[in-house]
Amino acid sequence: MLAAIDAASRSEDPQTQTGTSLFSSDWKPLGTGCNGFDAGFVPDPSVFDDRAKKSALIHHAEVNAIKNCNKSQPIHYLASLLTPCPSCTALIKGWGVKEVFYLNQYIIPATGKPDEAFRAIFDFAGIKCRAITEEEKENIRTFTKNFALHALK
Ligand SMILES: [Zn+2]
Repeated sequence: MLAAIDAASRSEDPQTQTGTSLFSSDWKPLGTGCNGFDAGFVPDPSVFDDRAKKSALIHHAEVNAIKNCNKSQPIHYLASLLTPCPSCTALIKGWGVKEVFYLNQYIIPATGKPDEAFRAIFDFAGIKCRAITEEEKENIRTFTKNFALHALK
């Protein structure tokens, strides 16, 4: 999850920064991605004021992670800051991912309700999916704090 959080920090979207990390079955890192535009594409800043236009131009973190990952081994684990949208859910299923972890449930802005579409597809495909536990979140906080303090000495 730390790799997904780090990836999210690279997103150029001022409203939503999310990230995804991918691992093999033996937890070898295969790649990361954030929500962002195609490499080298620099949009007019006004694109962030138009949600529909931004959505048409920006790739979700899952897409960028899978597009750019090391494909020498199958993607087994996927960790992401948000639950996947229906399109990314299909992509994850198509790439044969076996287990998905997420930090937060995505809330649909227009309805204020959680987007739960991914659950039925993952259940159908036999893909395990769960939120990071509070204990795991605390472990991330502790590790991050201790590592940063050590690294900044
Ligand atoms: Zn998506």
